Amino acid sequence: MMGKKRVAILGSTGSIGTQALNIIHEFSDDFELKLISANSSKELLLKQSLFFKPNHVVVNTGDGYNYLKKNLKKNDIKVYCGNDVLCDLIESNDFDIILVAIVGFAALLPTISAIKSGKKIALANKETLVVGGQIISSLLNDYNGEIIPVDSEHSAIFQCLQGEKISTVKNIILTASGGPFRGFSSKELGDVSVEKALKHPNWNMGNKITIDSATLMNKGFELIETKWLFNVPFNKIKVVVHPESIIHSLVEFLDGSVIAQLGQPSMYIPILYALNYPKRVSSSAPKLDLVKIKSLHFEEPNKSVFKHLDFAYEAIRVGGSFGCVLNASNEVAVSAFLNKKIRFIDMVNIIEKSLEKITFVQNPKLEDLLEIDLETRKFAKTII
Ligand code: NAD
Ligand code: MG
Repeated sequence: MMGKKRVAILGSTGSIGTQALNIIHEFSDDFELKLISANSSKELLLKQSLFFKPNHVVVNTGDGYNYLKKNLKKNDIKVYCGNDVLCDLIESNDFDIILVAIVGFAALLPTISAIKSGKKIALANKETLVVGGQIISSLLNDYNGEIIPVDSEHSAIFQCLQGEKISTVKNIILTASGGPFRGFSSKELGDVSVEKALKHPNWNMGNKITIDSATLMNKGFELIETKWLFNVPFNKIKVVVHPESIIHSLVEFLDGSVIAQLGQPSMYIPILYALNYPKRVSSSAPKLDLVKIKSLHFEEPNKSVFKHLDFAYEAIRVGGSFGCVLNASNEVAVSAFLNKKIRFIDMVNIIEKSLEKITFVQNPKLEDLLEIDLETRKFAKTII
């Protein structure tokens, strides 16, 4: 029998990270936690370190580093500071799987390190593919890499495609809950509060993705993710609003057959599936009771109110640096909204103006993307 899977969790203090740790704990006979990392949540990182005893802990802030160093002094756990060191650790250590659950652009370089050093990746972060889908996809080719999607829609599609040829796919249909403001008019969106935007009807997630779900940017990002994960053109990727979030996505095949994956709205199964793939294990997942659910509903997304979806279709159509500008301006906009510096409806303008202003590059290298990301953030902040 194989030994325990050696796991690294990047972003261990976040919504996905903590759920993944619960799974590692539940299946401690199967997994061994080797590395955890986070931006600044030093207390939680300490708690996780003392409980799981990983070999390596990485934090981004100097303050967090000093705190962890001091409090872990008597333990056999090495403490490091910064994402550059994180990349080195990814490359120089043996992990069987790396769960990338960092939020935002910051996941791009660690993901690249993982691919280049031949590590299998469970990818929750979506911004990496939005920004650098082209680069990631050619690196996966060059290094014979493997990404198992964690985002629930892509986990669903991945599961529906097991044993199928991508050439037999007619359409991929992503389901969207519609977020907290489904059915709102543009006028009604005018004065929605941060608190309301953070109240997602079905999912409990980190703040950034929750706001992205309210603007439908999240669904837009998932369209782009779909393109890069499954190599399908933009005209084969559709979105349907499904408020119950029970069907996590569907694949329509050439012969007219449609395969869907269902489950309660919980990230437990997608994370568990990605960590165990290609194995399936019995689990404590919340049970799906169709008789209790009774009915499921579907509708078209309202693209005239929620404009973010079209940005994503455009990103897939034109490629190049479009996704990088889209992501950076969105990160700035979401953060400004969360900090109550702008209104909900201002977010779309910041993205639009950034896409107009920043020069488009058709075949950006990684260095170009890093530069374009910075330039976009700088510009987007001037609008606020
Ligand atoms: P979160 O905000 O709850 O957690 C983010 C994690 O990343 C934290 O551990 C944080 O410390 C770390 N982090 C933040 N900035 C960092 C930086 N600059 N460098 C290094 N680490 C940094 O986010 P989340 O909701 O867990 O989402 C994580 C990723 O997974 C996002 O890309 C999100 O879109 C994607 N995702 C999340 C869910 C969900 O249910 N939460 C579902 C699908 C996809
Ligand atoms: Mg999703």
